[in-house]
Amino acid sequence: MTPLRIAVIFLAFSLAWILLSDELVFLLLDDRVQIQRVQTIKGWAFVLLTSVIIYFLAKRLQSALVRELNTKKRHLVQLRRKAYTDYLTDLPNRRMGLRKLRQLVHQQRPFSLCFIDLDNFKQINDSLGHETGDKVIASIAHNLGAQMDSSQHLIRHGGDEFLVILEGMVDAEPVSALAGRLMQVFALPVMLGEVPLRVTASMGIAQFPRDGVSVGMLMRSAHLALHHSKKYKNCFKLYQDTMSQAVSYRFDLDQRLRQAMVDDEFQVFYQPIFDPHTGSITGAEALLRWPSANGFISPAEFIPVAESGGHIRSLGAMVLRRACEDSCQLSKTLARPLTISINVSPMQFVDGHIFRDLALVLSETGIAPSQVILEITEGVFLNQVIEASEALVQLVAMGVQLSMDDFGQGYSSLSYLRKHPFAYLKIDQLFVQGMEDSDQDLALVEASIAMAKALNIKTVAEGVETQVQLQLLRQLKVDFVQGFYLAKPMPLADYQALLGVHHD
Ligand code: C2E
Ligand code: CA
Ligand code: CA
Repeated sequence: MTPLRIAVIFLAFSLAWILLSDELVFLLLDDRVQIQRVQTIKGWAFVLLTSVIIYFLAKRLQSALVRELNTKKRHLVQLRRKAYTDYLTDLPNRRMGLRKLRQLVHQQRPFSLCFIDLDNFKQINDSLGHETGDKVIASIAHNLGAQMDSSQHLIRHGGDEFLVILEGMVDAEPVSALAGRLMQVFALPVMLGEVPLRVTASMGIAQFPRDGVSVGMLMRSAHLALHHSKKYKNCFKLYQDTMSQAVSYRFDLDQRLRQAMVDDEFQVFYQPIFDPHTGSITGAEALLRWPSANGFISPAEFIPVAESGGHIRSLGAMVLRRACEDSCQLSKTLARPLTISINVSPMQFVDGHIFRDLALVLSETGIAPSQVILEITEGVFLNQVIEASEALVQLVAMGVQLSMDDFGQGYSSLSYLRKHPFAYLKIDQLFVQGMEDSDQDLALVEASIAMAKALNIKTVAEGVETQVQLQLLRQLKVDFVQGFYLAKPMPLADYQALLGVHHD
């Protein structure tokens, strides 16, 4: 029932009523007073009748709308399910697996990661055909799945590879016991009709955070352990530092990092930060970039190495100087203040490095201290080496502003936020990106913004990747937004161009 049809029916009904009833009244009565009285009654009857009709029509319209909405909702749920489910085994797929891993790493929750790879699977595919291969995979997925409880997640990583995430399980003994049980699955043959087929697998296991502090590093460690078990086949291996490729990788990275610093290879990129309501750029976050022959090495990878090798202090000082110089220059050219957000590692606080570096940079670049925002994570409070409270007060006394980075990830950010002089709160991208799918994430973002407002702290949502996220954040009245949907981190020249500063 369209609105137009409702209007037409209503119009026809009203016209018919007015014309016919008037005719009838004049036909039957000739006394003026009587006619008037009947006309009044007629008017009331008309109002009553039309109300009843409108009520029923609106009700029909409403139920049609509800039906349509439910169909759309179901469709959306199906689509989402499809995107995260493996078609063959009905298990969570690689995408879902990575999502789960990132979540656990973000929340700093210990877990073990098993990388399972079937032995000689190519032979099965080549000699018995892909269809049989698919049957084997599905059957093994089913048998492995039967071993999992609610804190253990089986994922089809692709091809003949599976991942198992064991939440909260990091001690060698229970992990080995479970791995042994999983290997038992391969002791039984897979039945292809009446024909038994023996399939074995190798497994490598790494644990977070001991064997890798990021998803990438952990996968590499689990893969290395798998590589070792492949030498023998049909067995599992726990990752050990002596599987020293990872160690030598770190060592190698440390060496290259030293050299890169001498050669001045590091670059500072800028990711613009926007006012979501006006769309204008208010400033940028400075992000370190290390170019290599195979593209950029991720800061998530080299910052931990720089921290443990003690290089972060000079690297941090370099970023601070360059970012302040660039931002100050830009603000001058544009004749409007731009903020510059700089990540500070807890290690930079040791021995008061940050204070000396900051004082020097502020005086030498002439940047207004209030335009400098230092982004600090919960790590600064967990670090036993420094007295964080005093340090933060001292920084604020120097005129700069503080931002609590990755808010929502840690356990105690909330209490730190209340007790310390933070001017900004940066909502972690995990929650920003989860907002569309998860009501909890949406609630968390909403609550963070409300709480920040109550504490007179400005909010920044980072990692905005879609129009929907931006729209939601606008509605929630977030103060600033940053993310790939708006602009990726970029070299200074591109940032200048985006701001409308051109060079000959
Ligand atoms: P962070 O402080 O949380 O920085 C934000 C990260 O999110 C950056 O990654 C940025 O490129 C990325 N990002 C921004 N928007 C989006 C988005 O829409 N989607 C996704 N998926 N990602 C987005 P990046 O540059 O790889 O840096 C990683 C981390 O390395 C930073 O996380 C920060 O903790 C650290 N880092 C980077 N530069 C520095 C630095 O100069 N000093 C220190 N101490 N740490 C740094
Ligand atoms: Ca940051
Ligand atoms: Ca962050």
